[in-house]
Parts: sequence; C-alpha cells; structure tokens
Amino acid sequence: SGHILLPLLFFSFTTLLKAHHSQGPGHILCLFINNQWQDAASGKTFPTINPATGEVICQIAEADEADVDKAVKVARDAFRLGSPWRRMDASHRGLLLYRLADAIERDAAYLAELETLDNGKPYAVSYTVDLPNVVKFVVVFRYYAGWADKWEGKTIPIDGDYFCYTRHEPIGVCGQIIPWNFPLLMQAWKLGPALATGNTVVMKVAEQTPLTALYVASLIKEVGFPEGVVNILAGMGPSAGAAIARHMDVDKVAFTGSTEVGHLIQQASGSSNLKKVTLELGGKSPNIILSDANMEDAVEQSHFALFFNQGQCCCAGSRTYVQADIYDEFVERSVERAKRRVVGNPFDLKTEQGPQVDQEQFNKILGYISSGKREGAKLMCGGGVAADRGYFIQPTVFGDVEDNMTIAREEIFGPVMQILKFKTLEEVVTRANDTKYGLAAAVFTKDIDKANYVSNGLRAGTIWINCYDVFGAQAPFGGYKASGNGRELGEYGLDNYTEIKTVITRNKPFI
Ligand code: NAD
Ligand code: MG
Repeated sequence: SGHILLPLLFFSFTTLLKAHHSQGPGHILCLFINNQWQDAASGKTFPTINPATGEVICQIAEADEADVDKAVKVARDAFRLGSPWRRMDASHRGLLLYRLADAIERDAAYLAELETLDNGKPYAVSYTVDLPNVVKFVVVFRYYAGWADKWEGKTIPIDGDYFCYTRHEPIGVCGQIIPWNFPLLMQAWKLGPALATGNTVVMKVAEQTPLTALYVASLIKEVGFPEGVVNILAGMGPSAGAAIARHMDVDKVAFTGSTEVGHLIQQASGSSNLKKVTLELGGKSPNIILSDANMEDAVEQSHFALFFNQGQCCCAGSRTYVQADIYDEFVERSVERAKRRVVGNPFDLKTEQGPQVDQEQFNKILGYISSGKREGAKLMCGGGVAADRGYFIQPTVFGDVEDNMTIAREEIFGPVMQILKFKTLEEVVTRANDTKYGLAAAVFTKDIDKANYVSNGLRAGTIWINCYDVFGAQAPFGGYKASGNGRELGEYGLDNYTEIKTVITRNKPFI
C-alpha cells in the first residue's frame, strides 16, 4: 500500500527554548548530580534523535562509571545519619512529592511535547490519553506523597517480658534504570515509592529518551529536594547502567527493560554486594476472546491491547487467542480496524500511531515480520515500512499463527498482531501459560464463571477482564516467571523500598 508521505511540519524549536532545554542540535544537556548540572567526567556526549525524522534534537552528556561513582557518593552523603533528608519529617517528604506533582502538572503540556519529540508517541494521544496519563503519573507522585507518613510498622506480642515493634526504614541508595517506552511514567513509578519511603536515588534514563527526565530533574530542584537525594544520569546501558548494577555502594537496584538485561542486573548483584533487585521485564501476554464476547468491543480492545504506544508495551496483548467459532469474523474485523489506523506525524492530532523509538527497534520489528512470513503465518495486512523517513511501520496483522512460531514466542515490541485459534477453555489456559513470561493477560467474555476459570488459571501478574491496559497508581503491577520480580505501584510497591527493622526492648517488671 505504498508509503505515507509525512509532511512533518518541522516541530518549532521556539517552544523548546524554555528553561535550559534543547536549543538546537548542538546544544548539550547535562547530567543532574547533587542538584547541579554537570558535564560528563569524560566530556563525552551523544545525540538524542527525533524518531519521526531521524534528525538530531540535541546532545546529551554521556555518563559512565566515573559519573555513576560521583552520583553514588552524593546520594550516600544525602543518606548519612543526621542529613537534612534523614532528619526531614515524613510528612515533609510527602509535601515535596506533592509540590513536584504540582510542578509537573503546571508544565504538563510542555512535557508532553518533549515526550512526543523524543519518543515519537502521538501528541493527540498525549492529549486524549496521555494527558490523563500525564495526570496519571502525576497521580503516582500524589499517591506516594500520601503514603510518606502512613507507612507504619507494627507492635508485636512476642513471648516473654518484651516490647517488640518494627520500623519501616529506607533501604539506602537506590539505583533505578528505566526504559524509553513510557519515559515520564516509568520515572514516576520509580521515584514515587523510593522518595516517599526516604531513600536516595541514582537514576539512569534510557539513552533513546533522556529529555523529559532531565526536565523533571529541574523541577525536583525547584520544589526543594535536598542536594544529592535525586540524581539523574543519561548514558548507555553497558557502561552507566552496568556501573550502577555492580556498584558496591548501591543498596538496591530497580530495573525496567528487556529480560535479557534483567538477567545481567541480577547477576551483577550476585557478583557484587547482593544489592536488592527488583525487575520489571518483558512479556508475551495472552489476550483471550471467548465466543460469547461482545464482538465489536473485543475487536477494538484487542486492537488497543496490541497497537497502543506503537506496540511498545511490556504488557502488550501480543498473543490474541480467539475461539474457533468466531475466529474468521474476528480476524476480518481486526484487519479492517488495523487498516484504518492512522499512522503519521506524531504532532498531527489525527495520528494514532507514530514512529518506533529508533532504528534498532525498527529493524528488529521488520525482522520479526519476515520471520512470521517465513514460518508460515498468514500476513493479513501491513508488513512493511510506512514512510520514507523516520521509523514508521505499517500496522500489521498475522492470522493462522501457531504457538511454536517465533512471532508467537518472542516479544516483538512493535505494531504486529498475532491471532491464534483455540477450541476449549482448558486448552487455551494451557497454551497461554506455555511461555517463559507472565506479565499480564486478558479475557473477553460475558460469562462470569468462564472469566473466573481463565483468570484463576493464568500465571500472570495482572489479569484484565473485558478491558485491557487499565492501570491505577493504587494497584500493583509486575510479573510472574521471567517477567520479573517484585511489584510496583500500590501499597505493595512500598515493600521493595523498605527494610524492616525489628526492635525488642526488655520490660523491667516492677513490684
Ligand atoms: P534494554 O533492556 O537494553 O534497555 C532498558 C534500560 O536498560 C535502558 O536504560 C538501557 O540503557 C539499560 N541497559 C541496557 N543494557 C544494560 C546493562 N548491561 N546494564 C544495565 N543497564 C542496561 O532494552 P532495549 O535495548 O531498549 O530494548 C530491547 C527490547 O527490550 C525491546 O525490543 C523490548 O522487547 C524490551 N523492552 C521492554 C521494556 C519494558 O517495559 N519491559 C522496555 C523497553 C524495552
Ligand atoms: Mg538494549
């Protein structure tokens, strides 16, 4: 179906002149260490790219081990006993998080522009979905702000004449390594619980999308977090990321990204100081459509489940299992919907799908499309490049997909839908669970008994029934099996940033 011409109204840089941000391709954005903007120790920089055009937005200081060391030192100092941060009332930590949320909300439109420029996600989505999402990650900060002075220990009736209580203490210096698919949201998921519980942070943001995180750093300083509490570095995974993972003075590392790197993070902990590790990794989430489901709704939701965010979601519904008697109609309608998906300039308000984040992901996805064709899946629509510049891929649907095909087993992280056929509930639960992953799953049906049977049987951290990609700051999210360990969000999310101290006092019996 040829190339969609992308008359990319070149995004006006005047809107980006705000604060210290991008002033053109030669401008350098620094690292945020100890509430100061610093060059990388090596003096190195790397370009960040607009994926809609392939053009350089600006240069970013590139952190490596020396900068990580520097950031860990100041984060350790900010955590020392008696420091302003350690002596701060818990309620005041909460207040700082509320102020940060307010500042982010004030600048939400600007942040949404930066996010679209750097990541390629549609600005319309920023306004109709992501702005609520912007509000959503503001909600994450507010949710955890409220917890700061409510994260209570227990008094415990142990045997004997003793008084026993627990204190919930911060773990210490937390390394946080985040991906590029939801830069602002991932930053909020990581900073919210870490700061509410009184930790200090060295965060490495994804090299593809450093802009919004560095802008948020300026807000962290503005609202009054003490020096060294939050440090934000941009840099590459194998250098800056790995330096955090193996650092002897980092107490905990939280990672979101590929399962492959998740293995490396856990190994680095094992071979260094056994720092605590939480991981939020990949998935190959089954989305199961039973024959009694509302067809129109199931088609639309399944389309969203896969194509949302250019398919770049860890929990994407990337194995769509459809019951045999409705399979043909479901495929036909899904193809029709995918063909209607509007791909183009992410700043055009009609656009539903922007570019993939970078050349590497673009190539990887096209490789998966070739493997689908080669292994005998039926290409129903799309399958190619969607523009003559930038990293645009046509919305693609494969029918007649078999469980053992590469496109049914590996995370594609792109706009490529796999539709599989099943007959019985027992069969589909077994097949859905036959994966190393266990992040999320969904079932569409009007029958509560069937919904319960499927949701109880699936081994995944989140199950959606008659909906998809519904998140709440209040509800935990995370993976079974190789999709990770630990949970983020909700009260459960506090556990991963807390050491439990048990204090036992001998009571002197009087009289
Ligand atoms: P990645 O795992 O390489 O990158 C995620 C983060 O980890 C980035 O900040 C990166 O710099 C850092 N990193 C990379 N190597 C590291 C190392 N050795 N030590 C420490 N940190 C390191 O992911 P990617 O290369 O951007 O994407 C590859 C695939 O990962 C995607 O195709 C997708 O399948 C998956 N992915 C998943 C998520 C998710 O939300 N779970 C996010 C992004 C990518
Ligand atoms: Mg990588």
